[in-house]
Amino acid sequence: MEYDTSTSIKFHIHIVSTHKSQWTGEANYGNIVKKRGKLWREPIKRSIFVCREKTDGHNGPLRRITAYKTNTYNDMSELIERFLKYVKFDTQSDETTNLTPSTPGQYEFAKFLKKELEQMGLEEITLDENGYLMASLPANTSREVPVVGFIAHLDTSPDMSGKNVRPRIVENYDGGDITLNEQKNIVLSPNEFPELLHYTGQDLIVTDGTTLLGADDKAGIAEIVSAVAYLKAHPEIEHGKIRIAFNPDEEIGLGAHKFNVDEFGADWAYTMDGGEIGELEYENFNAAQARVTFTGRNVHPGYAKHKLLNSIRMANQFILMLPRWETPEHTEGYEGFYHLVHIEGSVESTTLTYIIRDHDRDRFERRKKELEHLVRKTNNEFPGCCSIELKDQYYNMREKIEPVKHIIDIAEEAMRRADVTPVVVPIRGGTDGAQLSFKGLPCPNIFAGGLNFHGRYEFVPIPSMEKAEKVIVEIAKLVAQA
Ligand SMILES: [Zn+2]
Repeated sequence: MEYDTSTSIKFHIHIVSTHKSQWTGEANYGNIVKKRGKLWREPIKRSIFVCREKTDGHNGPLRRITAYKTNTYNDMSELIERFLKYVKFDTQSDETTNLTPSTPGQYEFAKFLKKELEQMGLEEITLDENGYLMASLPANTSREVPVVGFIAHLDTSPDMSGKNVRPRIVENYDGGDITLNEQKNIVLSPNEFPELLHYTGQDLIVTDGTTLLGADDKAGIAEIVSAVAYLKAHPEIEHGKIRIAFNPDEEIGLGAHKFNVDEFGADWAYTMDGGEIGELEYENFNAAQARVTFTGRNVHPGYAKHKLLNSIRMANQFILMLPRWETPEHTEGYEGFYHLVHIEGSVESTTLTYIIRDHDRDRFERRKKELEHLVRKTNNEFPGCCSIELKDQYYNMREKIEPVKHIIDIAEEAMRRADVTPVVVPIRGGTDGAQLSFKGLPCPNIFAGGLNFHGRYEFVPIPSMEKAEKVIVEIAKLVAQA
């Protein structure tokens, strides 16, 4: 075999043996000689390389070795390497602990990231007792340029375990079923997830079917860290001050809670926490919760005529008065809904819990009025039996973004420069960014690239992550030019 010995690339490889002696162990960043320029996309299971052994930072003599690829990636970029490292941290958040961060793993991960940012030479690095990690890349221009921030969250969803995540790279996805776990017969199939077919020919990172992946939002963290590292390595790219922050407990709705917007000190920011490539979000639901309580009167059923009031039946009647199609399962896009999430009751007392969602503020207010109206109607029939407690939860960030619409224009232009078509979609939920926007930090959301969040079928196409990193770099450039 012949080798082109002129070019070396970074390759993460498990060296099993040389032709003379047995080796085991991992050689990160061994200088592996590129074979006829073909190494980049060719899935190589076992190959003979000519390589230099690197000891104590010094190059040793050239050797011929047989190398077996482990679960690694050809031409593994620092972005992917980071991501694969980050998902090893178990950072599942937990609604029930009443702590910040809600779980210790998140703090461990934040400490690890802090070290990484220090090694990169970032400045103003702070990690507070609540697990909020912030850092700065100083401006390299003397011009007055706004400070832009990038934010991602440390935690993963409570819905599925994030412990012992074993990511695997599916190279050059062929459009068929991906067996995640042969033993347990867990298959990621385009029959159930047709979005997979948007990514044929790409390299995907998937789970082993027993955990979630954690691309939500460790892809976002890897993209931000890598983009900042890239800017640091390319001082010829002019940029203003860039702030980055990684926060805990987004998945339990508390990511923005203890976020110190003043300390962050950015003019605006982007959360890198969206899904598929191109997603750009600056509209989310207005949200409220309603508890409707019905009070009945229990009497022995044998003597109940004209005496008994059954609160369960009142509640049932109430449920049926709400429009049947305005529910999550019948709505999409900008359509709002009433969602009955809980019933608890007996003859004496029944409580319904609803969540109310609408992008449009007026319609949102009218939905709440409608519930109050139905309570009055119920009380007309059963005087004094029905009451309601309404509580607003969060609001659509659109009203905070619209006055600074240029931050959307910049994100769209950055995407186009990265060859990504922006897809502006309304979020059918809330985001940290919405809460931050109302705390004075306008904060739209940009794709991090992953799909099927919060479950075992989560996956992330590698090119989507690479594009997200590029979008961050392009935003930094554009802000400096504005
Ligand atoms: Zn997320």
